[in-house]
Amino acid sequence: MWSEALRLELCGGSMASYQVTGVRTEKSADGYHDHIRAVQINRAAILSRHTVVNDIRSGGDSYYTLGGGQKADVEVVTCPKCTFRDYLKTKPDRTTADNLLSLPRV
Ligand SMILES: [Zn+2]
Repeated sequence: MWSEALRLELCGGSMASYQVTGVRTEKSADGYHDHIRAVQINRAAILSRHTVVNDIRSGGDSYYTLGGGQKADVEVVTCPKCTFRDYLKTKPDRTTADNLLSLPRV
């Protein structure tokens, strides 16, 4: 697990920006689309959605994807297809070359 102690050790306690390199998904309540359940960062640690959502909402650590040479920030929104409020996605105004659901499943 990606412990808080390890995070502080690696980052000196300051805010950091992590590249999301893979995702784990789960079915939505209606079973017809996917939500991000957890993300892999820096091709190593797996972080729960809860951790990532809290980091983004609190203005702490930030997350991004790289696709087609472009960086896209991860944000928290209400799911466009249901009422789920902790939906993770990349900001579409930056690039459409990549998004979380196109990343490898880990
Ligand atoms: Zn949904």
